[in-house]
Amino acid sequence: MGSKVKVLLSSVFKPFAVDDLYSRSDSKIELFHNQITKYQGVFSPRINYNTFGLHIIAKNIESKAVVLDYPSLPRFIEEVKKGYDYVGIGSIVQNFNKVKRMAEEVRRHSPRSKIIIGGFCTMIENIEKMLDVDYVCKGEGISFMRELLGQSPEYKFRQPEIFSYTRELLGVPLSGFDYHPFIAVGLGCPYGCDFCSPSHFFGKRHIKLLKTGKEIFDEIVKLGKRFKTTSFGLGGDDNFLADEARAEELRKIMVESGLQVKLFLFASADLVKKFGAERLVEMGVSTVWIGRESGFAPYPKNKDLDLKALVEELRRVGIKVILSSILLFDFHTKANIWEDIEDHLACSPAFSQFAFYAPLPGTPLYERMKEEGRILFSIPLEDWHIFGKPWYIHPEFSLEEAKAVQDRAYLEDFYRLGPSIVRLIRDEVIGYLNMRQSSNQYLRERAEFYAKDFPLYRAILRGCLYLVRRKEQKEFIKEVISLLEQAIGKTRIWEKISGLGLYGFGRLREFRTRFFSDTIQPKTRISYYNW
Ligand code: SF4
Repeated sequence: MGSKVKVLLSSVFKPFAVDDLYSRSDSKIELFHNQITKYQGVFSPRINYNTFGLHIIAKNIESKAVVLDYPSLPRFIEEVKKGYDYVGIGSIVQNFNKVKRMAEEVRRHSPRSKIIIGGFCTMIENIEKMLDVDYVCKGEGISFMRELLGQSPEYKFRQPEIFSYTRELLGVPLSGFDYHPFIAVGLGCPYGCDFCSPSHFFGKRHIKLLKTGKEIFDEIVKLGKRFKTTSFGLGGDDNFLADEARAEELRKIMVESGLQVKLFLFASADLVKKFGAERLVEMGVSTVWIGRESGFAPYPKNKDLDLKALVEELRRVGIKVILSSILLFDFHTKANIWEDIEDHLACSPAFSQFAFYAPLPGTPLYERMKEEGRILFSIPLEDWHIFGKPWYIHPEFSLEEAKAVQDRAYLEDFYRLGPSIVRLIRDEVIGYLNMRQSSNQYLRERAEFYAKDFPLYRAILRGCLYLVRRKEQKEFIKEVISLLEQAIGKTRIWEKISGLGLYGFGRLREFRTRFFSDTIQPKTRISYYNW
């Protein structure tokens, strides 16, 4: 049966980040500009992604499959009219009404198609009764689809080509130039923090899609050639170091091969500390996402850890940290929340996230707050995102007060710590200065690997210096320029001129944002599997 049927897997339709029935302008489909550099204006990198989960499923079933990334609604309908046996729609909770509309359109234009929904939106209570669909896929989708299509549960995982692509940097359009492959290495995290949707969505399991360090290394080599890049995300896996043996195997192979790459991954602080900064950099890690959550929160992963010292330790080998803190825990008061935020800022990470404590369906936090009668169900699901206003009652903060604290935290981060792009350069230069004379050969080579980008960084820093408006930010950038010049020499005249060019692009972007729009819609793409 499996090989004859045709499957369409689609993301929800665009436009995103507009205020209409289906979407909100403050909910952009970008990790950086929506979550971690959202208040940094022109300094915020504009990066889009394809719909990783759908491609992973399509690549790992034996049927003919089409993946549609970010179609408009008419484009989705046009595709549906071709008459697929199954139409799958993947979505997060906030796009529930888009899923509903798409399911209705499938029924109208292709009544014989069976409809499947997947992704975090399936955790919405009574979703089966709210939508006219045939199947609801909760949790891991490959096994679900293989079973539905009558295919063997045993299969060898195959890696699809999934990637992020930069649209703009400092206002410079980069579409078509800057691709970074994502390697789907696993899913979920076994820790089960009360607010964590991915961990509970996958049943607190740590699912290994690539089971060994060698398999990951082979993908790095293959995709590096294909995309002509040394920069990769290890995606899907929310706590990569939870499998220490796999990480250690990857490290060993990386050191033996002498290959230098920049890996981005997610890992909890306890495991980062245990694995150690030097071993991480030997594994090729360049950026790590760490959930700090709160200095007052009792999560075991952060128990007795000095996060500031850990970020510093990582910086010494050039590893950048995306540090994520949570606002509006129940214990947060107007008296202590700024102590917590200041503690975060003192770490001076390259990137910061300040998300609300988020009772999303499927998490223990949701169940608890529901029982306590604190969830404001009258707020539309489109507004249940962790940036903007909360959708629950907090003992101390009103919704408006909560928004003001979040806005302020992001702005303090930007004003006092400087643009993240400059912090990233600072961390690599510090890593270079520390490693260039290391007794460890791999680390010395790592230093030279980082240094390849430094001439470009000199121009970028000049552009940033011309673009920032606040005195303390200018001072910070001058310090980083001086650090960089100490590493590789004075900024050349053409780099200063390039900096002026960046200034021009940057101001133009600010003008466009102010008088037109800040929104960049992701591209529509169609991909075929097994055709
Ligand atoms: S450690 Fe991170 S990924 Fe794991 S459950 Fe906690 S928040 Fe989620």
